[in-house]
Amino acid sequence: MERFDVLVVGAGPAGSATAIHLARAGASVLLADRARFPRDKPCGGGLTGRALRHAPCDVSPVVEHVVDRMVLRLGYRRRFARGSDTPLILMTQRRLLDAHLAEQAAATGADFRDGARVDRLTLDGERATALVGGAKVSASYVVGADGANGVVAKAAGLGDGIICGVALEGNATWQDLDPGPYRRTAWVELGVVPGGYGWVFPKGDHGNVGVGGWMAEGPRLRAHLDRLARTHRVDPRELRDVRGHRLPMRRLGAASANGRAVLVGDAAGLVDPLSGDGIYEAFVSARLAAEAILSTRLDDYAPSLSAALDRHASASWTAKRAADRFPWACFWAARSPGVFDTLAGLLRGDLRHPSQARGLARPPLRALSRLARLG
Ligand SMILES: Cc1cc2nc3c(=O)[nH]c(=O)nc-3n(C[C@H](O)[C@H](O)[C@H](O)COP(=O)(O)OP(=O)(O)OC[C@H]3O[C@@H](n4cnc5c(N)ncnc54)[C@H](O)[C@@H]3O)c2cc1C
Repeated sequence: MERFDVLVVGAGPAGSATAIHLARAGASVLLADRARFPRDKPCGGGLTGRALRHAPCDVSPVVEHVVDRMVLRLGYRRRFARGSDTPLILMTQRRLLDAHLAEQAAATGADFRDGARVDRLTLDGERATALVGGAKVSASYVVGADGANGVVAKAAGLGDGIICGVALEGNATWQDLDPGPYRRTAWVELGVVPGGYGWVFPKGDHGNVGVGGWMAEGPRLRAHLDRLARTHRVDPRELRDVRGHRLPMRRLGAASANGRAVLVGDAAGLVDPLSGDGIYEAFVSARLAAEAILSTRLDDYAPSLSAALDRHASASWTAKRAADRFPWACFWAARSPGVFDTLAGLLRGDLRHPSQARGLARPPLRALSRLARLG
């Protein structure tokens, strides 16, 4: 039986980032993913500035488009645009990003195995054992980076308190979608999907078109996506690679470590309830999990995760409630002086949570928060 310090299950952004931090510190790491790489993952592929601040390595080789402008529209009618002096979101494709991160993990010293499903995981007080691609492996710690409904959460008795949203996305080539309005610009459509929004993000040779919302919207997501495509003058039949995936969001304080197991990224339910992005949270949780393992103090993980993310997540839940019930109020608030700067500051990571908003942004944000309580 092969022995490792740490078995990392899943080589998405959370797993590869954890493996990089651990291997850099000298730990022996097995990073295993059931998929053959390069593999795609349903995702808008937007890397916010705040995600980049926590990236475990340089990701510039896989960035296809830089966004420094946003168009926000309400109910496919009224809209406004705002720009930022510095980039807001860097656009990539997950096929490229995830392969790049896994390669970096391997270059740092982790043993990366793709096409290697992890199952029959058991944990006792001393070690974790599992079958990895059919071979028996043992490790001192196991990291669950295996996304929503992962095997590690189940084996460790974790993962309660996570509710899921759902999103569906597809790609339109620049032949099918006129690139002009999307150059350096992310379009966000409010008030069109209950519990979420629609988007069009520019990539290298195509635009990414997507919708996300409450899990109950699942059966209607394809209709929402088709309407979004048509509104942007794309024939829905021309959309390529249409696929959906869950958006796991945890209740604040939900358990994320237990004995010798720790959950990171989507496996821990860390998707931002408002924006639906999770790569920032994947990178933050990866660093904190690696620190907890390296110091052999897994009990420190949950409090450090809460300290890093809960305030922001709590504000996101509040804003999501307001956006869901009163999308027009969110649209109005986002238009108000200072509020877009606050949103941009949050995306770039200059601000950690909306309570750091200054001046003119404060009254509309306070009004939104009151509305959310009404909802
Ligand atoms: C439609 C959509 C759009 C999104 N857009 C954005 C966006 O623009 N920006 C953003 O920041 N976030 C976005 N997100 C969220 C983002 O995709 C996730 O938060 C992110 O993928 C989380 O990374 P992860 O590493 O935790 O999990 P994942 O990326 O899901 O990786 C989990 C990995 O575990 C592997 N695995 C699972 N089970 C096993 C097993 N038993 N053995 C071995 N391997 C296993 C899987 O093959 C997979 O590779 C979007 C999500 C959706 C659904």
